[in-house]
Amino acid sequence: MNYLVVFAGLVLCTAATAAVSVPAKIVKKPANTWCAPLVSRLPKITLAQCQSSALKPSGTVSKKGFPLLIRDVPAGVALTRTPVKVLLIGGIHGDEKTASAVVFKWLDTLNDSTSNDLHWKIAPVINPDGLLARKPTRVNASGVDLNRNFPTPNWDKEAPQYWRVRTRSDPRRFPGKAALSEPESRWVFNQIEQFGPDVIISVHAPFGVLDFDGAGTPPSKFGRLLFNRVGVYPGSLGNYGGLHKDIPVVTIELPNSQQMPSDAEVARIWKDMLVWVENNVAAQGKLAAK
Ligand SMILES: [Zn+2]
Repeated sequence: MNYLVVFAGLVLCTAATAAVSVPAKIVKKPANTWCAPLVSRLPKITLAQCQSSALKPSGTVSKKGFPLLIRDVPAGVALTRTPVKVLLIGGIHGDEKTASAVVFKWLDTLNDSTSNDLHWKIAPVINPDGLLARKPTRVNASGVDLNRNFPTPNWDKEAPQYWRVRTRSDPRRFPGKAALSEPESRWVFNQIEQFGPDVIISVHAPFGVLDFDGAGTPPSKFGRLLFNRVGVYPGSLGNYGGLHKDIPVVTIELPNSQQMPSDAEVARIWKDMLVWVENNVAAQGKLAAK
């Protein structure tokens, strides 16, 4: 026993001496701590892709303290008009892994783009606690479906009633005890207030369609995804943004929540999305008033 204690003491002393003698020049800035856990969950996203995504912690954290990440990408070309502002979010439901991963792919695409004429704010992981749970969950760490937690009119009555009656109190669709009760939904709400997007694009899975709320012309097709209304729910982002804030909200429902579409399909969805934004959001004439 004594031998062990002495030995341990020697190791500690040696370690302490070594620590003191490390030259400052080889002390590296620590890499971010959030990419490793995220890429362990995201299909087809490498650590290098995450590290080069240029996402930054917003200063707001999830219920369990994970940073809510965002990237601001101003228009890269000189414009005679105010650029169209696009809020692109993914993974509001934590078990829809591809819905976050595809946004990482598009962040990568933007790195290579030399002609971006939109102003983007991009947040690929709105519900990190759900994504990083041992078994990923739709709801956040408080058991709330964030996509039912937005302050649509009459939320106090409609959201709980819809949950009880229409979903039969499905725990995966619990809207929360009050609108904006959750840090993640409050954060998205604040992004909308502060950024004032002209369009919101929210990525989900696995219904394999496009949905649209708000004024304007819905997209007919992004890649293989066709327009087909999914529905309007009390407290959903589409309901809140599209119908009550008058901001068009496109919901992209990828066809599979676990397996990524092909790279070619990911690229087609992106390209069709840009064309639709240019032809339908930029052309709305809203911009002149801003
Ligand atoms: Zn979803």
